[in-house]
Amino acid sequence: MKQYILEMEQYANENNVPIIEKKSIAFIMKYIKEHNIKNVLEIGSAIGYSAILMASSTQEVQVTTIERDETRYMECLKNVKKCGMEKKINVVFQDALELNLSEDLKYDLIFIDAAKAQDTKLFEKYKYFLSKDGTIITDNIKFHGYVGESSKIESKNLRSMVQKIEEYIEFLKNNPEFDTKFYDVGDGLSVSTWKDKN
Ligand code: SAM
Repeated sequence: MKQYILEMEQYANENNVPIIEKKSIAFIMKYIKEHNIKNVLEIGSAIGYSAILMASSTQEVQVTTIERDETRYMECLKNVKKCGMEKKINVVFQDALELNLSEDLKYDLIFIDAAKAQDTKLFEKYKYFLSKDGTIITDNIKFHGYVGESSKIESKNLRSMVQKIEEYIEFLKNNPEFDTKFYDVGDGLSVSTWKDKN
């Protein structure tokens, strides 16, 4: 398994596939263990690196992961199989903004790691699938140090994306339904839980 993880890191590096930083996935794996998380929904599988590590956190945890890019989806399936994780990980090939999950599904951890400009939309769509004591974790809250510095960014596309993350942070800070803590781990993580757990 360790060898496959190293191979995935190398593949991601060689093919410019963004994967989570080691410190951030270690944080999430610890969170899964400490909070006895049983069902994870991940938005943005890429090649399955974080899904496989989350699924390996405990014996019980199950992961559903969504990916819209076909090449990455295929690579993810291959890696899940290699690691013998077919029973623990369900990989869905679709755009998460278009997917209709069955209404009765509930997850105790939702990990948002997709297109960063979609963070708010994804949060708003998927909060309905979060159990009352569940948590939404979002990666890249610092976006390589650009967040908070958007006015200085020259590239229009990058500036617009970073502004969306800044808006997402404000949305989380002022959210009437969720409490959010921000962690300076890896590229920055937010951890949101329902204010009202009943
Ligand atoms: N979680 C992965 C890991 O750490 O190993 C990395 C995910 S990568 C940062 C983001 C992925 O989300 C990309 O592969 C991209 O194709 C996918 N993605 C972006 N927007 C999406 C959407 N709306 N629905 C599904 N997948 C999406």
